[in-house]
Amino acid sequence: MASKRDIKILTELLDLGDVKVISHRLHAGIGIILQTESEKLYSICPKCGTKSHKLHQNHRHIIKDLPFGEKQVFLEINRRQFKCEKCKKPFSEDLDFVRKKRTYTKRLAYKTIQEVLENDIQSVANKGIVTTEEIERMLKDASQELCDSKPSAFKRLGIDEIALVKGKGNYCAVLIDLDTSKLIAILSDVYDRLRLRKQEAVKKILREWGVELLEQIEEVSIDLWNLHSMY
Ligand SMILES: [Zn+2]
Repeated sequence: MASKRDIKILTELLDLGDVKVISHRLHAGIGIILQTESEKLYSICPKCGTKSHKLHQNHRHIIKDLPFGEKQVFLEINRRQFKCEKCKKPFSEDLDFVRKKRTYTKRLAYKTIQEVLENDIQSVANKGIVTTEEIERMLKDASQELCDSKPSAFKRLGIDEIALVKGKGNYCAVLIDLDTSKLIAILSDVYDRLRLRKQEAVKKILREWGVELLEQIEEVSIDLWNLHSMY
């Protein structure tokens, strides 16, 4: 049994807002499993915006989180279903730290993408924390998320490419703010959806940003893996 003090320390270390650790186990060869629960007693119905306190069902499952030292960390989470008193229908709660139907936390996805930018998908997957499929999913999600928001002004633009594992010779272009190392855009789906060549996809996104933003950029650095297909 975990003492109250252990629980308090683990919850502080986990640092996920309303999420409280309720127990912990260490499995040799697997890692640390933290059983968690939300301290929030309600959720907002996505259809009508009504605050609902009526618990309908518990949906517990295990997701991956940032490793702790050499140990892999798993969180047992509960994505509860509440029943909206107005709509009379159950809905699944939104959790700040993990997207729906994903097997990893948002912060693990963020860190993994940063590592992929510095290395490549295969070598990040070889560490054994996330699989190549999960990494490609993370890139797609990030691509979508970045696509929905226009970047704020920056001075140095870097254009790079990530080699995808599926389908040899598939790449996705990444646009980075070189001063902050922040991702600005990932162009992967764009190629497929619009059947654009990379060069055209990059041009398209630059045009979408508008002149005002482009005028702020003082330097562009292009470091593409397969220059041949680009030019
Ligand atoms: Zn409702």
